[in-house]
Amino acid sequence: MASSLTTPAASTPGKVASLEDYFSVVGPSEVGEIRALANRLAGRSVKMVNSTAVGGGVAEILNRLVPLLSDVGLSCEWGVITGGNDFFEVTKAFHNALHGAPYDAPSQAFELFLSYSEQNLRHHSFDADFVVIHDPQPVALIKARNSRPPHWVWRCHIDVSNPNPLVWDFLMQFVPRYDAVLVSSPNFTRPLPISQYLFFPCIDPLSQKNQELEADFIRKTLERFSIDPKRPILTQVSRFDRLKDPVGVIQAYKLARKYKDCQLVLAGGGAADDPEGGQVLSEAREAAGDDPDIHILELPPWSALEINALQRASTIVVQKSLREGFGLTVTEALWKKKPVVASAVGGIPLQVIHKLTGVLAHSVEGTAYQIRFLLSNPSIAERLGENGHEHVRENFLITSNLKRYLLLFLTLSGGA
Ligand code: UDP
Repeated sequence: MASSLTTPAASTPGKVASLEDYFSVVGPSEVGEIRALANRLAGRSVKMVNSTAVGGGVAEILNRLVPLLSDVGLSCEWGVITGGNDFFEVTKAFHNALHGAPYDAPSQAFELFLSYSEQNLRHHSFDADFVVIHDPQPVALIKARNSRPPHWVWRCHIDVSNPNPLVWDFLMQFVPRYDAVLVSSPNFTRPLPISQYLFFPCIDPLSQKNQELEADFIRKTLERFSIDPKRPILTQVSRFDRLKDPVGVIQAYKLARKYKDCQLVLAGGGAADDPEGGQVLSEAREAAGDDPDIHILELPPWSALEINALQRASTIVVQKSLREGFGLTVTEALWKKKPVVASAVGGIPLQVIHKLTGVLAHSVEGTAYQIRFLLSNPSIAERLGENGHEHVRENFLITSNLKRYLLLFLTLSGGA
């Protein structure tokens, strides 16, 4: 069993931005407001902790948020818990169970979880003014709480509206010891004795994942992956995870394809805390068969520019999740003005307002129907993409998230 908290290497996609770089995106008054809030917290320290430095939405956010918190004058550190495969198998089972999957948790699963938590506790100190623990994997680190630091927050990124009771009850020995819980959707709140705040996840418009790209780079990326730039492209970017339903995407593509010519790109890599990727990837490959128009791309963690290019080259972006926390891949696609066909699960309906900023679907057939509809109605597709971009600008950019954290820290420390 290996265990300790590590600080992620600078695997950050792209140059770290300073707050003033966002003038052009959100305007000087938003930047000025953030600076004013941050000045009241100057010198205070923050520690963010999660379970993977790369792969998945949480790492994506922390990669950009941690440097920005430092840029505005707080001292911000990021720690990642570690554990063996056995630990991450248990935490993945917890993750699926909290999303509502049946799970007959053996008692050893809870013991293993606790023993890795103890090891992570021994290898790290928590002396920041504000400690933010992301998701269930590190939730038991609250045991380190004593009189200092005074403020601990649990940021729950997953949909716990209908959790497996066994796993939720286990978490409940830790959650009420925090000062507050941050959730991604009003639907994810639970009856709890502590405050709950709505925190939308966010994307960074200046990161390599979302920055504008030269047309030539996009063209070369398609060429590299043997994707035809002249025919419609449907894309889903996701970890190979059953809850992202890659097989369902292939089925929807096959149905739509009977009526409209198109190609499908399934682009994804793994995450250090997700041991199921290999199996799900094999299932997707089997479902794809020998169709030359299905491109299953296994991408390494440093593929931000390539993912950006694939999203920008897409005619339609699909996110056919069965369960979802928020779905940053949807946010990224909307920002790029793409028409999105996505499942009405988790935080997706906060982003995709049906027929206004994209279209929602509830099944393979529904997804296929919406794909056909958008491929047949390019002007409607274009309008949805434009609306989606504005929706993201107003609600889901990293500057809003940064401001919310600053307000939370001020509130917790009685300074608001
Ligand atoms: N992502 C990536 N490489 C991949 C798959 C996903 O960089 O191979 C990124 C994706 O662009 C998004 C994040 O990982 O920024 C996934 O976040 P989301 O909220 O959609 O899903 P999660 O993986 O956290 O469940």
